[in-house]
Amino acid sequence: MKKIAVFPGSFDPITKGHSDIVLRSLPLFDEIIIAIGVNSQKQSLFSLEQRIAWIKQVFKEQPKVRVESYEGLTVNFCAKMQAGYLLRGIRSSADFEYEKTIAHLNHDMLPEVETVLILARPELSSISSTIVREIIRGKGKVEKFVPAEIANDFK
Ligand code: ADP
Repeated sequence: MKKIAVFPGSFDPITKGHSDIVLRSLPLFDEIIIAIGVNSQKQSLFSLEQRIAWIKQVFKEQPKVRVESYEGLTVNFCAKMQAGYLLRGIRSSADFEYEKTIAHLNHDMLPEVETVLILARPELSSISSTIVREIIRGKGKVEKFVPAEIANDFK
């Protein structure tokens, strides 16, 4: 059976931390679906269309990677995509505790989906979309924190 992983998140915007997790996970899966969770309660800085366009640009040379958006529970989206794996990145012990709780809940809801946690590389573990948005709001430079393929858009 095809090994399909869903990598869910807000990607507001995609960072070098996200792209590194996807690239390092490529040998593990036949397909990785980067899934932008749309939550009407949560206001994003960048539009869904813009976030999708950046992700497409970053992974345009990677036929195994595609991008989708979804509403509602991540496990329901995994079932719809027939994905057997849910991919998440871990930057810190706080991330781990959070991901552990979510993974256990997801397992209770849909045991067919296995959560795979990949550790952030130390040099990328301080990068978060939240920090990138803060720097953008403060008119600072973020080219170093976003993938090279889209860095020009942030100059
Ligand atoms: P969410 O809003 O669900 O936290 P994000 O877009 O912030 O979505 O993150 C999506 C996934 O990427 C999460 O598993 C998060 O832990 C992981 N991630 C974010 N930044 C990094 C990073 N610098 N290194 C590794 N993983 C990361």
